Amino acid sequence: MLVLDTHCDTPSLMIEGLDIGQDTSGHVDLPKLRSGGVDAAFFAVCTLADLSPDAATARALDMLAAIHDAADKYSGQLALALTPEDVESNKDKGLFSMLIGMENGAPIQKSLSLLRLFHKLGIRYITLTHNGDNEIADSSMEGKRWGGLSPFGREVVAEMNRLGIIVDIAHVSDLTFNDVLDCSSAPIVSTHSCCRALADHPRNMTDDMIRRMADKGGVIQINFYPVFLSSEYAMAREAGSDGLDALLPDAEDVVRHITHAVNIGGIEHVGIGSDFDGIEVTPRGLENISKLPVIFDLLAKKGYSDDQIEMIAGGNFMRVFKEVTRK
Ligand SMILES: [Zn+2]
Repeated sequence: MLVLDTHCDTPSLMIEGLDIGQDTSGHVDLPKLRSGGVDAAFFAVCTLADLSPDAATARALDMLAAIHDAADKYSGQLALALTPEDVESNKDKGLFSMLIGMENGAPIQKSLSLLRLFHKLGIRYITLTHNGDNEIADSSMEGKRWGGLSPFGREVVAEMNRLGIIVDIAHVSDLTFNDVLDCSSAPIVSTHSCCRALADHPRNMTDDMIRRMADKGGVIQINFYPVFLSSEYAMAREAGSDGLDALLPDAEDVVRHITHAVNIGGIEHVGIGSDFDGIEVTPRGLENISKLPVIFDLLAKKGYSDDQIEMIAGGNFMRVFKEVTRK
């Protein structure tokens, strides 16, 4: 079974000095990946919405440099993966695959040339926005600037389709989602979202969105962030209520979201995008990436077959990765 997590924010810590070769206090490092049986993960080059365009580009380059440096430093244990075939051959060689995603398209500024350069540096998906509207599209947490994708955003999606970069709609507004679904010639994904029917948060996907994205071949990768898993927890946290701990979601809640997404979109359209190292609180029993097998054990207990668990663990996302990068 190939285990692939589509969203870890570890590069944000790596540029602050985190050494992924050590057993760190972060959620993701080589010892934890190994003990969790994780074969591959997308490391997110994430820039926050408040940075100037030049600052966003500089920060993205810093993170890319840290990722490439780590790949060199730990070449006996991990390797960058630029293609689905790399992921498979790295696994055969016993190497962990480091994949690179860009979270927030701001670092490409208004330049398709910069988009192409970031592709050459290893970026294989782009989350079009983070928590603010940008030159490309409106965000789920703002949604005021364009009413969806901008005219430049349409060019970006077309160029991503041509290059073979996966379009990630986690973080975008519902109107942006509609535009992207209409104009992308390839399947699209959410690398780290949950189900809005179970937890009403704008970062989560409605049943209609999950269904339409699945119809186009895409996948929703379920996020572990307690605020996206449980409305009760999110509200209590917002209100600063006592007894927050008692409401903290656990692995069962993650499986609840997986199962809902499976019921709506189909077993071929769901996976895992933990958001580890990007979330300040984790579900009970899923404190870091070494705990990932807890999810698979729970799925087995609930009657999922080995084949179905394999699809959720990474098979479904690999199918999309192959389809998008096929020339
Ligand atoms: Zn995110």
